Amino acid sequence: MAIRTPEKARRRAVSRRRTARSTRSAKASARKRIWLFEEGNASMRELLGGKGAGLAEMSRVGLPVPPGFTITTAVCNEYNAKGRTFPPGLMDEVRRALGSIERKMGKRFGDAQNPLLVSVRSGAKFSMPGMMDTVLNLGLNEETLRGLAALTGNERFAEDAYRRFVQMFGKIVLDVPGEKFEAIIEARKHRGGAKLDTDLSAKDLTEIAKEFKALIRREKGVEFPTDPGVQLEMAIRAVFDSWMGKRAVDYRNFNKIPHDLGTAVNVQAMVFGNMGAESATGVAFTRNPATGEKRLYGEYLPNAQGEDVVAGTRTPHPIAQMDRELPGVYRQFRDVAKMLERHYKDMQDLEFTVERGKLWMLQTRSGKRTAQAAVKVAVDMAREKLISRDEALLRVEPEQIYQLLLPRFDPEDKGAAEREGKLLARGLNASPGAATGMAVFDPDTAVEIGANGQAVILVRPETNPDDVHGMLIAKGILTARGGATSHAAVVARGLGKPCVAGAEAIRVDPQAKLLSVDGQVIRQGEFISIDGTTGEVFGRAIRTIDPDLTKERDLQTLLGWADHVRRLGVWANADYPRDAARARAFSAEGIGLCRTEHMFFEEDRLPIVRRMILAENEGERQRALDQLLPIQRQDFVGILREMAGLTVVIRLIDPPLHEFLPRYDELLVEVAELRVRGTDPRGLEEKERLLRAVAAMREQNPMLGLRGIRLGILYPGIIDMQVRAILEAACTLAKEGVRTHPEIMIPLVGHPNELRVVEQRVRPLADRVMAEQRVRVAYKFGTMIEIPRACVVADEIAELAEFFSFGSNDLTQLIFGFSRDDAEGKFLLRYVSDKILPENPFQVLDAKGVGALIEMAVRLGRKARPDIELGICGEHGGDPQSIEFCHKVGLTYVSCSPFRVPTARLAAAQAALKEKQARAERDR
Ligand code: PEP
Ligand code: MG
Repeated sequence: MAIRTPEKARRRAVSRRRTARSTRSAKASARKRIWLFEEGNASMRELLGGKGAGLAEMSRVGLPVPPGFTITTAVCNEYNAKGRTFPPGLMDEVRRALGSIERKMGKRFGDAQNPLLVSVRSGAKFSMPGMMDTVLNLGLNEETLRGLAALTGNERFAEDAYRRFVQMFGKIVLDVPGEKFEAIIEARKHRGGAKLDTDLSAKDLTEIAKEFKALIRREKGVEFPTDPGVQLEMAIRAVFDSWMGKRAVDYRNFNKIPHDLGTAVNVQAMVFGNMGAESATGVAFTRNPATGEKRLYGEYLPNAQGEDVVAGTRTPHPIAQMDRELPGVYRQFRDVAKMLERHYKDMQDLEFTVERGKLWMLQTRSGKRTAQAAVKVAVDMAREKLISRDEALLRVEPEQIYQLLLPRFDPEDKGAAEREGKLLARGLNASPGAATGMAVFDPDTAVEIGANGQAVILVRPETNPDDVHGMLIAKGILTARGGATSHAAVVARGLGKPCVAGAEAIRVDPQAKLLSVDGQVIRQGEFISIDGTTGEVFGRAIRTIDPDLTKERDLQTLLGWADHVRRLGVWANADYPRDAARARAFSAEGIGLCRTEHMFFEEDRLPIVRRMILAENEGERQRALDQLLPIQRQDFVGILREMAGLTVVIRLIDPPLHEFLPRYDELLVEVAELRVRGTDPRGLEEKERLLRAVAAMREQNPMLGLRGIRLGILYPGIIDMQVRAILEAACTLAKEGVRTHPEIMIPLVGHPNELRVVEQRVRPLADRVMAEQRVRVAYKFGTMIEIPRACVVADEIAELAEFFSFGSNDLTQLIFGFSRDDAEGKFLLRYVSDKILPENPFQVLDAKGVGALIEMAVRLGRKARPDIELGICGEHGGDPQSIEFCHKVGLTYVSCSPFRVPTARLAAAQAALKEKQARAERDR
């Protein structure tokens, strides 16, 4: 039992009391359904949603925030659980909270002389671009509209506010398609010769609002609600309904956001950015979200409302320009931005409005950023001492590191494309990375074509939440309109996909399925390329190349910090010297899996391998093996040299032999054709012999058949050849003074006796080779653990094996009984989308089932051989969540594809940091 010091005991008692108290107050908080902004704080994201918690925190620290309140996520869940009915008394509480806003603003909701208008916005714990948007100017009707006009002395402004309200309410709450409203505006503009929305007169706007209401009547058979109380109730209902809407559900499924979080509703007094030249609205990040550069980054529109910036219908001004246009406000905004970043210790994404020279903050939240920016911001903030190095490591998603290593355009091919005049346009570099694919002009076609594995680029005039399903499948996104904070840019950055936004020279015609620029036309199905790092758009496919990690200085720094923190080793799976070189460049500390059969598939070797398999007697087989020996030896010399000083785990042949032969059904057709033609009796005889051999090797279930160690036992000559090649390679290098650490790994062992048979062959052979070579090299003999039985008898296996490497691909296949070749294409993805399984177990290690057997094998293996080396080399070795599991069970290393090594280094560090945090939490 752990010894408890009096101090520790006291701390525990205090912490217990504290927990009891906070549980009590948490329960009371959970019951409170409506929170005025000033009552909440930043820690309440769960209950108030991200937006609500941000507004609460800004109000609490005294920033200029229009007053308002938040209806909690718990109410949303209750509403959905009770078949879409409000909890009793909710609207009474809403009215009381509204009274508080009225008092603060000195206005009244629904008052014809001095009307209070509000905005209604959804706000879940995590920002969700697929969710319901905002309804602004709620509370307007024909009476309050006149009050607003008198109050502001600006009739046009009031008419415009009303037209916007009817449009937004009609689209978002009443679900009338947005284009129908746009068409009405366009038609009126056309009739009056107006170019911009701002050219429309007050009278035009009155007429437009009338037409909107007629449209709603036609489409929905209802009158537009005039009672502000009814408007508010309907809007709140629409927010709650949107939580279970298809778009939101799809988005949550893709981003693995639980469905039971619910959304909050924020109701807030309206302030107006469209009240003349001293008014504006904008969005800004405290640092550049694409590059991470420490400079205010964003844009604003003078005399406009928030949705004008986000929708990308008018091209906004860069934020720095506000210094000239509204200098006082700019300075205040800059100070607020700085203060918020220091307060939250993270890059902030801000929304603001300036109403007649007064700054109002409407939102602050942690800013979405590209992988490059995430790394730079984390490293810079640690250097600025705003956060610790540990925090910096936890700030970057391991998957983002993977994105940084994605291919870029080959400069030569890109240069050639430019010279050929294929550079079509430049837009905003909204989300970095290079993408080439077929141009498609609507999200449904993107899904249709993309589902067949074809790379597509989604091209739209601008995107909105209805496009998200197409954006998910596209390799990249191109829009003709919209700024760095437009929907396309924000969603693409969140998804880590390249995006060029606002390429204004391009005309996109979704109906005709084409884009045109300067007389050039690209139709659906033709290839285009976009460079989200530079904003360039090309009219053909461009070759891509891998990035150079050594030039990524901030990434190197971050990974260097990770290496100090992590306990797990990070090795790579590599079959060839070139893969090993890449793995080393990414700082892999060993090779955890070299699949030797891959060498057999090389073009010059396949005929020899086939001769070996088809040999009719032992002599013939041995001759083929003798031919393979020097080739394999050379392979191993290459890989061992590349990894000098580090361990290389070399697995002996694993797949069933028929994989090296032509396919049975194809051969059958060829034989039939030769028979019919009857012109080539010798060729026919040859093919028939091959067909007989392939037929003899056919198995109903080859994955469970003659493969792995079973093959080695039946064809020991192959083991002899491979072991000899490994040891001769190590001896050759030893003579050159190159230190090697080969480990011979036997696949698919289920019973210790299998391993014993092979060990009795390998050990004496190794001794013989070393005696012949007159040099001794250290090597290890071990096995893969990929059959469930091996986990259960791991202690017996460990008596023979000096190391285990968990083959989590086969282990998952065999524990679930899911074929790794067929399950994903047949039912597994459906299992995941229907939440029958939380994840695809071939991607994320199933900790409960597969993990339990791994834990058992670790325990038994260590019991029998305390210094046993334990690794994992299945696909899970590169998956962050699985890496955390491997850390917890105390493996020595994870091994993954070379490209995932940097990701794994960070994930391993995060696993260690999370463990440290949990320990500190326990000790508190
Ligand atoms: C495994 O089964 O996890 C493994 C690494 O081996 P392979 O994928 O080659 O079967
Ligand atoms: Mg395997």
